[in-house]
Amino acid sequence: MPDATQRLLLVHAHPDDETIGNGATMAKYVAEGRQVTCVTCTAGEMGEILVPELAHLAADQEDGLGEHRRTEIEDAMAALGVTDHRWLGGFGRFRDSGMKWHEAGHAIAADETDERAFANADLAVAADQLVQIIREVRPQVMATYDQFGGYGHPDHIQAHRVATYAAHLAAVPSYRPELGEAWDIAKIYWNAMSESKMREGLRRLREVIGHRLADDLVLTGRRLDAHEALAAGLVSRVVPAGDQLATARALAEQVCLGGGTAVRATLRMAGAGSDAASYLGPVQTPREVDEVAFSEDLMG
Ligand SMILES: [Zn+2]
Repeated sequence: MPDATQRLLLVHAHPDDETIGNGATMAKYVAEGRQVTCVTCTAGEMGEILVPELAHLAADQEDGLGEHRRTEIEDAMAALGVTDHRWLGGFGRFRDSGMKWHEAGHAIAADETDERAFANADLAVAADQLVQIIREVRPQVMATYDQFGGYGHPDHIQAHRVATYAAHLAAVPSYRPELGEAWDIAKIYWNAMSESKMREGLRRLREVIGHRLADDLVLTGRRLDAHEALAAGLVSRVVPAGDQLATARALAEQVCLGGGTAVRATLRMAGAGSDAASYLGPVQTPREVDEVAFSEDLMG
């Protein structure tokens, strides 16, 4: 019998964030019989499309990326064993706000945002949706982004605000009792990059692909081609574009094909000095991932 006396809630902004950031964590606690509830705040309509065959789904064309990613996250949840996935406020309630890159290497708000954009949502309205979920699920532990959303994405920052605000409100008995009985979440984790792992990763990156290419990836954010990464031994395998289940599985193993982006984000976070290890970068082998991800019991 699954022991659902321990419950973990994750709050993420876009489909795939949950798997890239916490896939191994979710799979671990599902496997141990803990209840895992994953909330996604937007359908990721503005996401960057890397697969040419799917380019027609872009927001400025058919605007069908959200529906497509809906099926992708269903596959990802099935691969990870998560049976309780929810969209904040229901599917399509809050829209992906999009982003653009600041020259300093982090994300900032796009020039124009849709009026339904999550980043523009009334904080109290969005938080109430999560208060209801918190009071129903009654998680002892919640995981979400840090105040900077990892790399500055406006939706990640908003997800952090909504999760934090909702956690406080959910615990107050006098706050909107019609949303459920008050529940106080015992522990809240922010996803963080491990500084020690990041430094080790950079060292290995330079060793394997040379200083110039490594610095190019880190400083300019140039993406490493998936096959280039495979040849350099930075990822364990490359999955064919469009094979969603294989992609979900690969992500569940924390194998990241967009190495350049993750490395850049990792470098930016170096000053944070966190060793929470719930985020694992792209330059580690699955074996190391297992050791780090499972070394600390979040639910303990
Ligand atoms: Zn995201």
